[in-house]
Amino acid sequence: MTNSALKTTLRHFYQLVEHKLLPETSPVPNWQDQLEKKYAIAVPPTFAKLIQTPNDPIAKQVLPDERELHTQSYEIPDPTADETFSPIPGIIHRYPHRVLFKPLLVCPLYCRFCFRREFVGQTGQGHEAGLLSQEHLEKALNWIAEHSTINEVILSGGDPLLLSPRRLSFLLETLDKIPHIKTLRIHSRVPVAAPERITEALLKSLKTEKPLWLAIHANHAQEFSPQAQKAIKDLRKNGILLLSQSVLLKGINDNLEALANLFEGFLEMGVKPYYLHHLDPAPGTSHFKVEVETGLALLKALRGRLSGLAFPAYTAERPQGGGKIPLGPAYTLKK
Ligand SMILES: *Cc1c(COP(=O)(O)O)cnc(C)c1O
Ligand code: SF4
Repeated sequence: MTNSALKTTLRHFYQLVEHKLLPETSPVPNWQDQLEKKYAIAVPPTFAKLIQTPNDPIAKQVLPDERELHTQSYEIPDPTADETFSPIPGIIHRYPHRVLFKPLLVCPLYCRFCFRREFVGQTGQGHEAGLLSQEHLEKALNWIAEHSTINEVILSGGDPLLLSPRRLSFLLETLDKIPHIKTLRIHSRVPVAAPERITEALLKSLKTEKPLWLAIHANHAQEFSPQAQKAIKDLRKNGILLLSQSVLLKGINDNLEALANLFEGFLEMGVKPYYLHHLDPAPGTSHFKVEVETGLALLKALRGRLSGLAFPAYTAERPQGGGKIPLGPAYTLKK
């Protein structure tokens, strides 16, 4: 649909219309103005080129929809209660031995179902244009160095792989040298959404002494473009340990074929499927909601079909920051 020469990320309704990803409407509907002010929009070239129809699994993940302005009574701005567990800017400490570290709140694309949608792509909150200032960055690193019960640091955001290789090296080298930190982890959508960023310089910044795990976020096998496959292969050949994380999404991957292709696709690239998340109730995301019973039935049907290596854990966040819980499916041994 979109011009294959497209080089820039589309961030406004008029650009989405210009590139024929959304139909032209005149005058511009009120809801588009409202939505653009409320939630960040970003469709990177890789994703724009993958979109075939306005209803396909790529389009639905990134094209803004009027329904996002309809908040349900059960939806909450911070469904994982990150703010409650944040002792200082950039740090979320919910579990005693591991900590989430958010050096920036910028993503290569903005998922329309994002659980941090009220925070990502915005400015403020100790973040300069979504980036933690050098002062806050150092404070966060010092905080981690002072808390010796923590043995794992998970870089999240926003997307840590949008940091410059220099800043990323600084962060990882500092964390690598803290004796009580044994495991490093990054959660990112860059390998599929902006594979061109997986450069030699970036790969070099990911060379750590301690094991570095990278959890790649993708929700449909159609995201695995040749460029994404190449980026993931480069990461694998560089010795990075690869995991996946996906969200179960209505109309996108809530069927057996889509999930099997997704998890097998990951495995074929050397990525171990890790989490299939139940959707968090962020505002204006109810059109993506899949019932837990449906998710459990899908997982049960997948069990026999997939290699054990390709089978993820189906998990949900408990309300009020209660943390992640596995949802099943549950099995018993018959007598
Ligand atoms: C999800 C999450 C983690 C990581 O959990 P794992 O089950 O180890 O993947 C760590 N800290 C916070 C605050 C989280 O939300
Ligand atoms: S990549 Fe993650 S943090 Fe960024 S918009 Fe998507 S779900 Fe939200």
